[in-house]
Amino acid sequence: MTDSCLFCSIVARDIPADIVYETDAVIAFRDIGPQAPVHILVIPKRHIPSLAQAAVEDAELMGEVLLAVREVAEREGLAEVGFRTVLNTGDDGGQTVHHLHAHVLGGRGLGWPPG
Ligand code: 5GP
Ligand code: ZN
Repeated sequence: MTDSCLFCSIVARDIPADIVYETDAVIAFRDIGPQAPVHILVIPKRHIPSLAQAAVEDAELMGEVLLAVREVAEREGLAEVGFRTVLNTGDDGGQTVHHLHAHVLGGRGLGWPPG
């Protein structure tokens, strides 16, 4: 738990969120400003600021994040039709919340390249 981190506050249930999946290590909840019919954020419960700060010791946890993405995609009916997983990192990456999170986007065709 990092004080003043929005996503740590969601993990702690200090701020409400529409939680769709949870394990001991990760939690997934709907994005408050969805950019697609399905837009879910998967985060490690432990505070890692961004992918740029992920360490070798975080390998198992990062694997759990990706497996949670797969589980969420399956539950939302996206596994067959496809979906996109995005980890915005740092200023140029467009990261606005500095607690590592994977966006799971789907439910419509998504353009490429991103803006
Ligand atoms: P980033 O821009 O850092 O990659 O993504 C942060 C995401 O968090 C944005 O898509 C934004 O809509 C979402 N977000 C920001 N504040 C909240 C909140 O209080 N609750 C939820 N569920 N999502 C949030
Ligand atoms: Zn945090």
